[in-house]
Amino acid sequence: MSVGPTDKQKRLSGLPSVDEVLKGAFGKAWLSAYPRRIVLQAVRETLSAMRKTILQGEPADTDLAAIIQIIDNTVRELSLFSLRPLINATGIVIHTNLGRAILSEKALSNVVRVSAGYSNLEYDLDSGKRGHRHVHANRLLKEITGAEEAFIVNNNAAAVLLCLGTLAKGKEVIVSRSELVEIGGAFRVPDVMAASGAVMREIGTTNKTHLKDYVDAINDNTALILKVHQSNYKIIGFTDDVKIGELTALGKKKRIPVMYDLGSGCLIDLKPYGIHSEPSVQEIVKAGIDILSFSGDKLLGGPQGGVIAGKKKYLERIRKNPLARAVRIDKLTLAAFEAVLMEYMDTDNAVREVPTLQMLLQSPEEIRAKAERIAAAVREKTGSKDIEPVKDISKAGGGSLPEAEFPTYAVAVRPSTISVNELELRLRKWSTPIIARIKGNTLMLDARTIRSQDMDTVEEALVAALSDGRSL
Ligand SMILES: *Cc1c(COP(=O)(O)O)cnc(C)c1O
Repeated sequence: MSVGPTDKQKRLSGLPSVDEVLKGAFGKAWLSAYPRRIVLQAVRETLSAMRKTILQGEPADTDLAAIIQIIDNTVRELSLFSLRPLINATGIVIHTNLGRAILSEKALSNVVRVSAGYSNLEYDLDSGKRGHRHVHANRLLKEITGAEEAFIVNNNAAAVLLCLGTLAKGKEVIVSRSELVEIGGAFRVPDVMAASGAVMREIGTTNKTHLKDYVDAINDNTALILKVHQSNYKIIGFTDDVKIGELTALGKKKRIPVMYDLGSGCLIDLKPYGIHSEPSVQEIVKAGIDILSFSGDKLLGGPQGGVIAGKKKYLERIRKNPLARAVRIDKLTLAAFEAVLMEYMDTDNAVREVPTLQMLLQSPEEIRAKAERIAAAVREKTGSKDIEPVKDISKAGGGSLPEAEFPTYAVAVRPSTISVNELELRLRKWSTPIIARIKGNTLMLDARTIRSQDMDTVEEALVAALSDGRSL
């Protein structure tokens, strides 16, 4: 359809002005409910887009009701936060893209409690003088890990960088070729080493490294022996590596500190749960490690952070590095951390209250009940037979427990009226986005990571997405 120039003029002058919109009933309603700048932006953007459409001679619905509707949608969109909650139906418990660990109730309330007012962040209440932020998580960390000293920085990448930069700048760090891993998000051991100013001394091969390789590499310029958790990758078959106890014994004999970047850092013994591949932090400390580091938001189930623990003489040097200030932990994180650590003062309590552990260790029966409830509710409301609970496998994620497979149940949806991609998109665009996984022509919603408080939302979204076919 082409529109003549006079018609264009008529349609242009028919558009309301920004002021007219703002003074109308809708304008007033928006202004009372949303920030003024958001309303202004929405009105201006909508009117200018309309003007452009008319000038280009394209057909457009320019009556007032249509304009109001567009502005209304724009106002809502612009007032949404960019970072917002969603429902993780991938079954991957520590999903880096979806924000890793969920905080426990106590951790959340402590963040609010501490950050709503002033706190003794760097103030010593006994002496009435300046104190240090590192003391706050220190007591619980030492108690739980058994380490002589411990403190927390911004994340584990920062922890590794800080330790290497402090103990090995301009000196050699011995590391096995089997541990030169990339963790994701551009954390690559050789690059971190280079950034810290340490000189990497690679030893062994991809599949085998022997104690003798470490012994042979030691020289006057050796500052550190580093062991790195292989995280999300595993070498199988004809392999060999050196036990941590042998490394610490060697370090002690040669007076060279041994550091272990543990990656996930699990604070409970997972063996009773059938997971034998992951040593706990406590076991590594007992093996005589000098320095170790691990993430706060992986298996530990806390906020983003990097714990550095180990022997006092090394930790004091690390803490005094000027770079420590640049990677220091903030008070919100510290408040969450201390509360999460308190959960660990009783292991059974931690397994119940720390969502990461609770989700990983919940029984397949519990998960099955959730999957069945969702499937039954959606079947009943839509009459659709395309949905059923099925057995599946979930992964820990976050580079943690790469070999461990967790038997789970998923809600499997094989839509017959829309494509599986369309269904995935509709759930992802739901008011609380739901992230699920496509497997062939089936959408899998793993019930492990769907929390009980999210069940109704998942049911509602599935019913809407499957029944009325509207694009959401
Ligand atoms: C995850 C991981 C890191 C990075 O930890 P962040 O807390 O994400 O910075 C470093 N090393 C290993 C072995 C890891 O698994």
